[in-house]
Amino acid sequence: MKFAKLTKRALTSSSKYIKYRLNGKKLDYPPQIDNIELTNHCGLNCSGCPRNLMKREKGYMNEKTFKRAISQIKENTNTKFISLHHFGDPVLHPKIDEFSKIASSRDIDTLISTKGSSLEGKRLRGVLNSNISIVKFSWAGLSKEEFERFQEPISYQKTVKNVKKYIKRKPGRQTVKIELLLYKKRPKKDVEKFVKKWKPIVDEVDIKRCSHWTGNSKKIKNLINRSGNKFTKFLAKTFFPPCPFPFESLSILYDGSVVPCCRDYDGRYIIGNIHKRDLDSLWNSEKMKKLRKLHLKGSRKKLELCKKCTKTLISI
Ligand code: SF4
Repeated sequence: MKFAKLTKRALTSSSKYIKYRLNGKKLDYPPQIDNIELTNHCGLNCSGCPRNLMKREKGYMNEKTFKRAISQIKENTNTKFISLHHFGDPVLHPKIDEFSKIASSRDIDTLISTKGSSLEGKRLRGVLNSNISIVKFSWAGLSKEEFERFQEPISYQKTVKNVKKYIKRKPGRQTVKIELLLYKKRPKKDVEKFVKKWKPIVDEVDIKRCSHWTGNSKKIKNLINRSGNKFTKFLAKTFFPPCPFPFESLSILYDGSVVPCCRDYDGRYIIGNIHKRDLDSLWNSEKMKKLRKLHLKGSRKKLELCKKCTKTLISI
């Protein structure tokens, strides 16, 4: 992240922490809802994804829960844009088109992130008929060999064919992005070659360094090298500032459970469920207050969810 952008984010979030400390226990602004998980099913077992550690049950969000989530978001937040995924492939959801239309009818834009390997037949038709604004193909690997190794079991050729077919038929209202996930720093020329290949075909190509998620997996930690920015790492280790998520956003799992961040793949810190409580009461619930307090005190080690996670205001 560029220094100016980092500083802006740091200042915005810092003002929120100061405000929180001054007014005591309640946040007087609503959360951004980052993710609604349509499903936690996925046909792949990607090297950098903690999904294979997931112990919670697999399932699909039903219409009642989705409608409840959208009306709660409209009533209790200013969210205008939501990702329809958390830890699973959203394309597998049989009602992705209907759900995206429910969101857009309430002026909420949507994004999905998928590998594209399952985007064919009725799933392709579902996405083409949907009102999803952004379709993002999120890939790891610079070569065919890496692509197939990092995203097992996947076929590079078949996936590229699916993506090209989608691009050819996609409606003008949909923006298509490719996100290249880098597990380690790679030679600039190799990354540029990837960008040059895809830029003429899609609307945007993003390069992203992978996170360790909650830091629970040794395998992921060994795979992903985050030693890129030594200065921010030093600041984060020295001052150990809080994580910004508990002060900014929430995510909703497929069964309506609410979690404090997009890294909580297993629902380890469930704040409550939208079928039982409104989002604004969950946002200022005792569980959220406890989370914020421990982060502000530099005591996140007491939290099962956050104790190994490296996310802080500075190390973003
Ligand atoms: S520190 Fe906790 S709340 Fe923040 S991203 Fe990590 S797991 Fe989520």
